[in-house]
This record gives sequence, structure tokens and C-alpha cells, in this order.
Amino acid sequence: MPGPAATLKEIHRLRRFIKDLDAKIEQAPKQLAIQQKRLANQEETFKQAQEHVKQLNLSIREKEGNIKSVQAQIQKYERQLDEAASKKEYDTLKAEIASERGHITKHEDDILAMMGEIEEKTKLLPEAEKIVQKARADFAQFEKDQAERLHRFDADRTRSREELKAAEATLPADVRAQYDRLIAAKGDEVISGVNGRTCSACYTEITQQMMSELRREMFLICKNCGRMLYQEG
Ligand SMILES: [Zn+2]
Repeated sequence: MPGPAATLKEIHRLRRFIKDLDAKIEQAPKQLAIQQKRLANQEETFKQAQEHVKQLNLSIREKEGNIKSVQAQIQKYERQLDEAASKKEYDTLKAEIASERGHITKHEDDILAMMGEIEEKTKLLPEAEKIVQKARADFAQFEKDQAERLHRFDADRTRSREELKAAEATLPADVRAQYDRLIAAKGDEVISGVNGRTCSACYTEITQQMMSELRREMFLICKNCGRMLYQEG
């Protein structure tokens, strides 16, 4: 049967392990949310690229509609030319027609520029889609891996809690009473290893007498920091 100091070493290991698992389990939703956000951003970027091409196509339809109405206007002016009552009226109509033709040219140039942009942007879409698909697959994998990790962490924690309880139960009654009081007052950090002759928590040297007691796995408390001690290594 190991002495209290040896049991405290195991208790310390279990408590740190459980604490580490607690932190990992607690961080999991945040880590998942970060990955989720990253995927959502990529989805959004791709959607915007698609939307941009769609908008360009709509703008072209609109410009084509404008050209049609300008052409109708020109035809109307041309009919009016025949009925012009004066040279002044005739010249005004001619100027209007020239101005409308200028509008058509402008619309046509815009359409050409937009068609060029559509071609360019459309070429990039398949690659952008691949990136999003990969991001989706990566996220699904992350989610699956995380669920498996969490399942393992949870099983480890349950087992370690049981082991901790069993180890605590082997402490002699008087030690157990002090242990419970210290844990209740100060939490997990009330146990410390002794490395060489130095308390690992407060870096104070313990006496030769304490050292030999510790080797016999007796229950000791660091005179400087008040932690329960065990021999490391
Ligand atoms: Zn100490």
C-alpha cells in the first residue's frame, strides 16, 4: 500500500488531467464556431462572386432595353423630319437624333465592357466553387473529428474522476480530513511535487529531515507555501 505522499502524486496527476480535459471540452464550442464562421465567410465570398455576374447580366438587359427605347425615339424624330415646318425645327430634330445616337453608342460601349467583365469573372467561378466545396468538406471533417475527440475526452474524464475518487478513498482518515479542507479552501492547486529538494510550486528547499520522510511517502506540507507534497520523478 503506497503512503499518502505517493497517493497525492497520483491525485495531483489525475486532478491536472481532469482540469486539462475540462478546458478542452469547454473550448470546443468556441473552436467549432471559429471554423463555422470561416466557412460562412467563404460561402459569402462565393455567393457575392456569383451575384456580381448575375447583376452584370441584368445590367446588360437593362442597357439593351434603353437602346430599344432610344431607337424608338430616333424613329419618331425621323418621321417628324419629313413634317418639319422650318429649317430651325429640322436642324433641332437632326441635333436630337445625333444626340440620341451618341447615347446608343455609350450604352453599347458599356455593354461590351460588361460582357468582358462577365467573361473574366465567370472564368474564376469554378475555381472559387472548388474552394468553397473544400471548405465545406474541411468543416465537416473538423466537426466529425471534434465530436470524436469530445467523446474520448468525456470518457477519459469520467474514468479519471472515478480513479480520483478511488485514490482519495485510500488516504488515511487524518490526511483525508486535511486534504478535504485544503481542497475546499484553495482548490486544485494545493498539491506540489518536490524536485530534488525544492518545492516545485514555491521553489523553497525542504529540510533533509522532510526529504527522508517524503521518501517514506509520509504526509508533509510545504512550510513555505502550505501545499501537500510528494516526491517527483
Ligand atoms: Zn512550497
